[in-house]
Amino acid sequence: MKKIGAHVSIAGGVENAPQNAQEIGASAFAMFLKNQRQWKAKPYTAEQCSLFRQNLQASGIAPEQVLPHDSYLINLGHPDQEKRQQSLQAFVDELQRAESLGLTMVNFHPGSHLQAISEEESLKLVAQSVREALQQTTTAIAVIENTAGQGSNLGYRFEHLAFLIEMIGYPERVGICLDTCHSFAAGYDLRTKEAYEATMAEFDRIVGFTYLRSMHLNDAKLDLGSRVDRHESLGKGKLGLEPFRLIMQDQRMEGIPLILETIDESIWAEEIALLARMEKGEA
Ligand SMILES: [Zn+2]
Ligand SMILES: [Zn+2]
Repeated sequence: MKKIGAHVSIAGGVENAPQNAQEIGASAFAMFLKNQRQWKAKPYTAEQCSLFRQNLQASGIAPEQVLPHDSYLINLGHPDQEKRQQSLQAFVDELQRAESLGLTMVNFHPGSHLQAISEEESLKLVAQSVREALQQTTTAIAVIENTAGQGSNLGYRFEHLAFLIEMIGYPERVGICLDTCHSFAAGYDLRTKEAYEATMAEFDRIVGFTYLRSMHLNDAKLDLGSRVDRHESLGKGKLGLEPFRLIMQDQRMEGIPLILETIDESIWAEEIALLARMEKGEA
């Protein structure tokens, strides 16, 4: 059975996330580890950590099916050394928070060169930062998300992801999250069986499926290669429903969190149910 969920709210505390996931019929979920628009937050209390673990267990969702997402402020490829240092410290804090909740991964976007340095220079800084963050933590896996390539964002080519994995040098503690909207916006087509298989074969050749730890399931508001990151509800954008049917029928996505970040959270429960029907070949 596929593990399907959405990026749920942590309003009132991270310990509330498992319940929020359960309410929409999810078997996986994503969440922020703290307010994603602030650099600093109070550390978790011991009570909060044990409450999270209890609630997670009660939800029946395994810790490996939870994919925390880091703060939007973090830019590990920042051209400015001081600002990159601030990002590195914040990223270490995210990894430590995940570890203290008994979780195994943290999902992040590689970073941006901000037109100040080249893509390659910035990617090297990202790799160096992740490497340092992994050295300062013990178990959490840094899951690199591919991006739409909007503005000066890195990580929109599979080659960028492979370069990072290689440069970070901790193969057992890095993974990849493929976002369907981002892939499509970056020019990787998924709309037909042929296009889907060609894109996945390219991913396998350049990165390797052994690194695939998660997917974000989003339709795309704009066309193939737009380089614009605008999500849409499943079937309501330019991707249509077929890519999601193909993913739900694909054995390579078995057992990893498949997470909705679609724009209308009031229909997440319906979207999860639709994906489950697709898996059974009923939709
Ligand atoms: Zn995403
Ligand atoms: Zn996005």
